[in-house]
Amino acid sequence: MSNVVGMNEFVGMANGNLHCWLCQKAVSTRALFCHHCGTIQPVRDIDHFARLGLERRIDIDMDLLDHQYAALSRTLDPQRFMIRGMGERGHAAKQLEALNVSYEVLREPLRRGRYWLELNEKMSNKAGDGHPFVKELRSELDIAANPAHCDRVAQRAGQALEQGIMGLMQALRGQKWQEANAALLELDGLEAILGDVRTRRLKLMPEKEGKAGVVGVD
Ligand SMILES: [Zn+2]
Repeated sequence: MSNVVGMNEFVGMANGNLHCWLCQKAVSTRALFCHHCGTIQPVRDIDHFARLGLERRIDIDMDLLDHQYAALSRTLDPQRFMIRGMGERGHAAKQLEALNVSYEVLREPLRRGRYWLELNEKMSNKAGDGHPFVKELRSELDIAANPAHCDRVAQRAGQALEQGIMGLMQALRGQKWQEANAALLELDGLEAILGDVRTRRLKLMPEKEGKAGVVGVD
């Protein structure tokens, strides 16, 4: 039974379908407070820039950073939540903690630089292009010279996709989140390849119907 709960949580997170813990209405990932009932929300998995309400860039305006931090820590001041329930006080304390961590990382150039590298590495791997098999298929597709060659790439990608989906389900059932995440990245990469195969195949196809009259003219 616990597997089912775990999986639902995971899927919910992946889709970004967040709900207020109190009124159950939809809330955005970045919202500190629910737009419907005004209740403080739990700490969400957002990057440090988003937590400070800043644009994601390596050169940040330090005055703006300080200003944002001051305003947000006033909003999250434990004094303001004294008369609230345990749940709200707890979330406010956690939010303040997360805010402090984000601020510390962004304020120090070295930590910000390291964090920036981490973030960008994550983003560049997002399409699964870093996966060895995806890479191999990608380079094969790059040199594919005819539709038959494209079909072979598509067939291999399709088979890997099927296997990958089974692997993903297995990881989800076992609550192995990191494995599931890696499987998802590979699947994204394979799907992207399948899409590109179709585009490439169309380009390599001999001109048809409407242009039948101009065969031989390149
Ligand atoms: Zn609410």
